Amino acid sequence: MPAAYKIIDHTYDAVVVGAGGSGLRATMGIAESGLKTACITKVFPTRSHTVAAQGGIAASLGNNSPDHWSWHMYDTVKGSDWLGDQDAIEYMVREAPAAVVELEHAGVPFSRNDDGTIYQRPFGGHMQNMGEGPPVQRTCAAADRTGHAMLHSLYQQSLKYDADFYIEYFALDLIMENGVCRGVIALCMEDGSIHRFRAHRVVLATGGYGRCYFSATSAHTCTGDGNAMVLRAGLPLQDMEFVQFHPTGIYGAGVLITEGARGEGGYLTNSEGERFMERYAPSAKDLASRDVVSRSMAMEMREGRGVGEHKDHIFLHLDHIDPKVLHERLPGITETGKIFAGVDLTRQPLPVTPTVHYNMGGIPTNYHGEVVHNRDGDPDAVVPGLFAVGEAACVSVHGANRLGSNSLIDLVVFGRATGLRVRETLKPGTPHNPLPKDSEALALGRLDRFRHAKGGSPTAQIRLEMQRTMQKHCAVFRDNELLTEGQRQIAATYRRLGDVSIQDRSMIWNTDLVETLELDNLLAQAVVTMESAANRTESRGAHVNEDYPDRNDAEWMKHTTATFEGWGGEGGKVEIGYRPVHDYTLTDDAEYIKPKKRVY
Ligand SMILES: Cc1cc2nc3c(=O)[nH]c(=O)nc-3n(C[C@H](O)[C@H](O)[C@H](O)COP(=O)(O)OP(=O)(O)OC[C@H]3O[C@@H](n4cnc5c(N)ncnc54)[C@H](O)[C@@H]3O)c2cc1C
Repeated sequence: MPAAYKIIDHTYDAVVVGAGGSGLRATMGIAESGLKTACITKVFPTRSHTVAAQGGIAASLGNNSPDHWSWHMYDTVKGSDWLGDQDAIEYMVREAPAAVVELEHAGVPFSRNDDGTIYQRPFGGHMQNMGEGPPVQRTCAAADRTGHAMLHSLYQQSLKYDADFYIEYFALDLIMENGVCRGVIALCMEDGSIHRFRAHRVVLATGGYGRCYFSATSAHTCTGDGNAMVLRAGLPLQDMEFVQFHPTGIYGAGVLITEGARGEGGYLTNSEGERFMERYAPSAKDLASRDVVSRSMAMEMREGRGVGEHKDHIFLHLDHIDPKVLHERLPGITETGKIFAGVDLTRQPLPVTPTVHYNMGGIPTNYHGEVVHNRDGDPDAVVPGLFAVGEAACVSVHGANRLGSNSLIDLVVFGRATGLRVRETLKPGTPHNPLPKDSEALALGRLDRFRHAKGGSPTAQIRLEMQRTMQKHCAVFRDNELLTEGQRQIAATYRRLGDVSIQDRSMIWNTDLVETLELDNLLAQAVVTMESAANRTESRGAHVNEDYPDRNDAEWMKHTTATFEGWGGEGGKVEIGYRPVHDYTLTDDAEYIKPKKRVY
């Protein structure tokens, strides 16, 4: 039994874990209705990763070129390589224009056209006329600081409502009782106290897990803690084999250069100065979808046409663009280029390489944000009391590959939908049952085990081993040999966690402890990602297995689900299942988009 910890109890109608774009939008919506709401976050809200989003947010406003929601729907389904659920995609694209106007009213200072309407730029994979082209201007932007503007506006708005914020609280585990979510346990990092939140509804908005990989554009805090909490509750994650590599991470630094740079006219070249994307995607060229551009870059490097001494990167050119345009539309990346690559973008090309950027997989939900569990023969049965939203969730609107600027719109559309569903299904002041007796046992047992870990391997060493394995064995190109060796290595690294050593045993600002809890979360997701990748014997979207180079709709047009057992370095075991893709739309206005070969 864990040593005595001081436990402080709280009771709420709803608790949201996470204060990024999705968590804040859900918090606002729930609090607005008079439900007693708490938002728990491990970093200050405006430091959530959403703050780093540069390029923008997609909606078919049609301000800069003709557009229609059905075109946005087509592009999203095609981008997803037909793994996205079409009911959820229809919901997102139809709600998108209103969601952007709502953000504008909330105070987001969007860039403007001369006539005062919101400026929209082209982005990869977004086209006119049901994919026929030309590229559409659909991505609304506040220069190249869209996420920053959004997060600040949403945080300011949410303070207006009566939500309680628990800032720098680290959520440890869900409280589950007979398959129902009853609340969450969190550690206050400042003073080491334990907080038990009892709630009728828990919303996980904890973001992605990019930090499983060595080179990622995501923040160090992107460790997928909510995903891991779901696994520990015995529930599945979905489509974890689909990890997006962004074509333009700065070589060596991993810092992102937005796709907006290519949207504004930037292009890629190889060591021969050739604009090679013209060969791989004759129509969309540098604005093909991200999986396609990343793979094309990897092919060029493999065939010896990478730039630099080791031929291991590619050039991104912006030097032909009017410096005035760069200054106005891409001021942040001009600065980033200078700081992280020592390059003056107005005169020199920037060295870039494909870098981990986004997790299409996550906690399976329906389009109301309700978590589904894929048990008892019903793939769409919901877990009472539990919701997920944002990058942590797999709705699934992004399927096997997300289009740029479709995440920010996902956050606000489904953040709002979650708020609406919670309000519909819960009356303020609904009485609470007492919590089960051992409600804190799972969370505190785990905390205690790591706090007293006296093994021989520092956390940072095990983390590096995991990140190197994922980067090498589960990247842009995979094959049977790479994956089999990857499975072996990642299982061994997971077992090494049983030998982790922690230096600091205190409960006050113990970053050693918190990073170890995060590593435990990351490792479980790394194992699940590797196993799901090894299991899918086809190539679709971001998952390419060169031993099975084609998409195989007959066998594989289905979501992977994966549960995890054997925690604490015992050697994780993954069980794989499947859910059907929703091949239907929500309304008669939208037609089901039939699978086709995906060319750009
Ligand atoms: C550099 C970069 C640029 C991007 N640019 C774009 C773009 O231009 N357009 C676009 O559409 N998408 C973009 N994306 C993707 C998009 O920004 C993210 O997918 C999205 O912001 C994720 O939002 P979120 O609300 O799900 O989570 P996040 O913003 O990651 O927030 C997660 C929240 O959960 C909290 N949390 C996590 N774990 C715990 C825990 N254990 N306890 C308590 N709290 C916890 C954190 O404190 C944080 O508040 C970009 C991503 C990156 C990395």
